[in-house]
Amino acid sequence: MIEPDKNCSKCKRLKKFRDINIKQYPNWFNGAVPSIINKNSEILIVGLAPGLNGANKTGRPFTGDYAGLTLFHTLKKHGLLKGHYKEDGNDNLTLKNCSITNAVRCVPPKNLPKSDEIKNCENFLKSTISYHKNLRVIVALGLISHKSIIATFNLKQKDFKFGHSNKYNLTEKIKLLDSYHCSRYNINTKRLSQKMFDEIFIETKKILLN
Ligand code: SF4
Repeated sequence: MIEPDKNCSKCKRLKKFRDINIKQYPNWFNGAVPSIINKNSEILIVGLAPGLNGANKTGRPFTGDYAGLTLFHTLKKHGLLKGHYKEDGNDNLTLKNCSITNAVRCVPPKNLPKSDEIKNCENFLKSTISYHKNLRVIVALGLISHKSIIATFNLKQKDFKFGHSNKYNLTEKIKLLDSYHCSRYNINTKRLSQKMFDEIFIETKKILLN
């Protein structure tokens, strides 16, 4: 599996932003965040990008911010996580039958990657997906991760509209399941409720039973 170098500089704007953060927060991770990988897992969760005070600080996807609190709590509730999650990442958490990655591996200013940055990072997502030989479900958290997944499978975007709980066949074996991102903004504005998020993982597990 190809992982980006921590100091990957393919995206000039993101590299610049990283250098600013290194100066400002020298004790933070500040780099391309590696995925949480379970090679044999059937589920892959794809987020957008590291949060400034979350994965960019701790070096682990979704760890340290509100989105992570929601995601890890939900995974535990649905039997996809063992152990306890701690915001600083110093915990005994292990994922069961799932892996977590981000479509863009470096923190973008204001959580908004540009289209060339998303494109630059697609190879890493492609490699992460093909590394999982038992993969059955990819859960896309948000529109950007949905589009990146479609691009890595060389499919036509127009045939795959993003929508919460939309489900598509990517291959004969692999399904895509869309969810609104579990960001603080989406939860606060009630675009995504805990019930809606729970339903995504109930559906994921149903797919695995077929
Ligand atoms: S976002 Fe991806 S391609 Fe761009 S610098 Fe980071 S790791 Fe490299």
